[in-house]
Amino acid sequence: MESLSDHYNALSREIASSGARLVAVTKTHPVEKIRELYELGHRDFGENRVSELVEKYEQLPKDINWHFIGHLQRNKAKHVIPLVSLIHSGDSLRLLRELDKRSDDSRTDVLLQYHIAEEESKYGLTRETGRQLMESVREEPLHHVRIVGVMGMATYTENEEQVAEEFRTLHEIYAELKAAYFEEDPAFTEISMGMSNDYPIALKQGSTLVRIGSRLLGERPQ
Ligand SMILES: *Cc1c(COP(=O)(O)O)cnc(C)c1O
Repeated sequence: MESLSDHYNALSREIASSGARLVAVTKTHPVEKIRELYELGHRDFGENRVSELVEKYEQLPKDINWHFIGHLQRNKAKHVIPLVSLIHSGDSLRLLRELDKRSDDSRTDVLLQYHIAEEESKYGLTRETGRQLMESVREEPLHHVRIVGVMGMATYTENEEQVAEEFRTLHEIYAELKAAYFEEDPAFTEISMGMSNDYPIALKQGSTLVRIGSRLLGERPQ
């Protein structure tokens, strides 16, 4: 059987050769799994629930870079801020304002999450709502929240051309935002796209952060 270490090394080499970084999605996996990857030198881990993140944070080394990848309710924003290095799920102006208000003197890095899939979803910006958000931020700047890129999830389908098209759209949105609002901002660099089933396509479309769970760690325990 292939060990986690062989598996991890092959996957991280593949991702690094495209110039992207791996976020190991450890939701529902026990802290021992995270520790194994930590021992191999990995530091970027993704969680999608606040309570689970808090619990794991307390038990694990403090030099882990935690990525929050799930929908974040505004009333939980303050709990997440001190723990995470990047919030991938910045999906509304109200959430960004709340994060800004709760960040005190710290800086909170956030990605704008776009809805690029054909499946219905309550979450994620469209080009239009994203533009409105950015216009509002231009009028009334954020002081502690720093927008550093975009995130999106493709449709769950075997149709690779469709998935490629959706990732291409996200890359285009990134480029439009960069030109319109972040030309002078060297921090706006990230395109978080690609999961276990579609990360090779995402890498081809210019992903900088892939979020991989099951392909690295196997089926998630429930
Ligand atoms: C669970 C999850 C992932 C990882 O999914 P896998 O298919 O296990 O790789 C990536 N991104 C988000 C937002 C997730 O919720």
